[in-house]
Amino acid sequence: MPYEKFEEYNIQITDDIKARYNGIIEELGEDVTRDGLLKTPERAAKAMLYLTQGYSQDAAEILKSAMFKESYNEMVIVKDIELYSLCEHHILPFFGKAHVAYIPNGYIVGLSKIPRIVDVFARRLQVQERLTEQILDCINDTLKPQGVAVVIEASHMCMMMRGVQKQNSVTTTSGFRGQFEKIETRNEFLKLISEKLS
Ligand SMILES: [Zn+2]
Repeated sequence: MPYEKFEEYNIQITDDIKARYNGIIEELGEDVTRDGLLKTPERAAKAMLYLTQGYSQDAAEILKSAMFKESYNEMVIVKDIELYSLCEHHILPFFGKAHVAYIPNGYIVGLSKIPRIVDVFARRLQVQERLTEQILDCINDTLKPQGVAVVIEASHMCMMMRGVQKQNSVTTTSGFRGQFEKIETRNEFLKLISEKLS
């Protein structure tokens, strides 16, 4: 089974994380026995397991499960893919959009698989730079296209809520392989993802 929905929580791991959250909430000066917080450690444990479920998923297998032989060899773009991840330095969310393109080389992939592999890598403790590279490398190594491009634009809660408090800053990362290393192909992609749908 290449891709499973995350529905079952390992009871042992959930209980361990729950106990630790209990301790953390107490350390913060809260009363873990009051009504509103009673089930919080368990909910937080499940939320954290959900947000890091990418560790148990195989992005390459997801792509391989929907590769089709096809002679189409123009650029395929999936843009504005919603993205939610956790920064590994603060375990706070960063979120935004990913834009992914590839130029087929004999094979295309089911379009829904592109957002899925973005999720697989995003649902881990991440830095935006590595997330960009992992999506890029996965598509490049599995689909072996003529080229692949990834652009991620994201806002980081660790910047917005703490530290420098730059609330409107967006971090952009990008990576290009194969044909997209050529300036004209890259520019065509960048132009297409910056165009607003009318
Ligand atoms: Zn951070």
